Amino acid sequence: MKVWLDGHLVDKQHAVVPVYDHGLLYGDGVFEGIRVYNGRIFKLKSHLERLAASAHAIHLTLHYTIREIEQAVRETVAANGMKDAYIRLVVTRGAGPLGLNPFTCPKPATIVICDRISLYPPEMYDNGMPVIVAKRPRIPVECLDPSIKSLNYLNNILAKVEAIEAGVHEAIMLNTDGEVCECTGDNIFLVRGSRIVTPPVTAGLLNGVTRLFVMNEVGPACGFDVAERTIRLDDLFTADEVFLTGTAAEVIGVSSIDGRMIGEGKVGPSTRRLVAEFRSRVAADAPEN
Ligand code: PMP
Repeated sequence: MKVWLDGHLVDKQHAVVPVYDHGLLYGDGVFEGIRVYNGRIFKLKSHLERLAASAHAIHLTLHYTIREIEQAVRETVAANGMKDAYIRLVVTRGAGPLGLNPFTCPKPATIVICDRISLYPPEMYDNGMPVIVAKRPRIPVECLDPSIKSLNYLNNILAKVEAIEAGVHEAIMLNTDGEVCECTGDNIFLVRGSRIVTPPVTAGLLNGVTRLFVMNEVGPACGFDVAERTIRLDDLFTADEVFLTGTAAEVIGVSSIDGRMIGEGKVGPSTRRLVAEFRSRVAADAPEN
């Protein structure tokens, strides 16, 4: 496995960053998770735009241009000869002296990993996935905006631990006003009749590339109206169906929340249609932009 590290393709075991990197010391950096389907890099432009926005939001000046990073991603995929893959693109603050000041780090580290990912057991795509509601709220927008895809994932990791302790794979996170935001690594939608609804970014969530793909392309192609609305837990419990979206997760139906069945407790017909449309689009068009 070859990893692209600051301009060079190096073997996985030699792809290392200094222990003084502020990415390691403070979780100071940004990242993207990107899929390669059938040799094409899915929505690469959207991911690069989000990376640039995240970097800007944390006052991180990228060392490479977006065009150079795009080339690095393509080069890494080619070097690993993978037709279907998961790319992890990371920009850390870089190495510097101890202390929080990010501006003491002269050069960010830019990393492109190309590997595989399988997030949830395949049978859950057929039978639905049970989830819980995390007790821990999503970090408020005014503290650290969840729309920044930063290396600070402890809020999500601790909610994920709640899920694991409850014997499930994912946890729904609410904001401090009790509104539904997203899950620890996925966005959330509900289905009511011919409408699919997802919380607005202002609720405090990552504006997922898959979320936007479902809202703008997959949902309308399946004949759904799409709306961004504040969602409360009761709306989820009374929905026809609930599903999650994410680069690694793709589209997956939710069977129960906190042990309470959603719809008939399996993957409903709307989610099935959306999953089928999603899969045929990524396989056939594999739109890069
Ligand atoms: N929310 C969070 C917190 C995430 O980490 C992710 C990505 N894993 C998502 C939502 C989904 O975003 P995307 O569709 O861009 O992968």
